[in-house]
Amino acid sequence: MEPFSLEKAENGVWYFSIPAFERYGGLKTFFTTRIGGVSTEEFTSLNFGGYTRDLPQNVAENRKRVMEAVGIHDYTEGFVRQVHGDRVCCIQSKDILEEKTLTINNADGITTNLENMLLVTLHADCLALYFFDPVKGVIALSHAGWRGTSKYIGPKTVDKMQAEFGSDPQDILAAIGPGISLCCFEVGPEVYEEFRSHFPQTDRCAYRKDNGKYMMDLKKINQIQLEEAGVSEVLVSGYCTMCEDKLLFSHRRDQGRTGRMGAGMILTGGRPKGA
Ligand SMILES: [Zn+2]
Repeated sequence: MEPFSLEKAENGVWYFSIPAFERYGGLKTFFTTRIGGVSTEEFTSLNFGGYTRDLPQNVAENRKRVMEAVGIHDYTEGFVRQVHGDRVCCIQSKDILEEKTLTINNADGITTNLENMLLVTLHADCLALYFFDPVKGVIALSHAGWRGTSKYIGPKTVDKMQAEFGSDPQDILAAIGPGISLCCFEVGPEVYEEFRSHFPQTDRCAYRKDNGKYMMDLKKINQIQLEEAGVSEVLVSGYCTMCEDKLLFSHRRDQGRTGRMGAGMILTGGRPKGA
């Protein structure tokens, strides 16, 4: 069964949520689509990402609509300037909540145990990895393209939750969001070889084509890495960004001229830890 549920809000915004996380209460999750925003041309219509050619006021309006649709009101945003690396940062100082947006440079993962701290990453083929430890009340979000995946960004996020908050991997639920899938993710032999030197099970997750290139299942690689890290459950979305042209942006399909989906997660409180 598809673990990401497509929600159609009254204000016209379509977004995904993760019901298996939200049934615990006390948190909200989203992965945006391109439907329900105000941007035009290649950003039509719900571009969530700044740092593009899109007009800042359109991005701001799109984000406002998403928060309204998901029902997120008071929050500080923790935003990582992704670099396809493997650094995971941690936000745990109450002082930071004085700020409206906290931008962290040079990181691809972020974790917190603070309520009302919205974690955000941006995507247009690369995977969003969501983590939730309901026992310790900790959340994390990471951005995993092939480079981050070859550097084990997923297991490193689990390590960070463990080191900073004492999370037991067996208590952690993980979910892998919509992204480029086996059907569309073709890579050259150099990428395949590079991958195989870091991840011995690459052969299980890729096959060679007649043209000498490879089709690679990045979702499965992340799933295996997280299972090996001891995560109790890994949910995997079947949605492919490149196939779903009406619903999702795809950097590869649109040859770089495209918008971004936002992945988000926030602890909203009202739930006793360990419940
Ligand atoms: Zn596809």
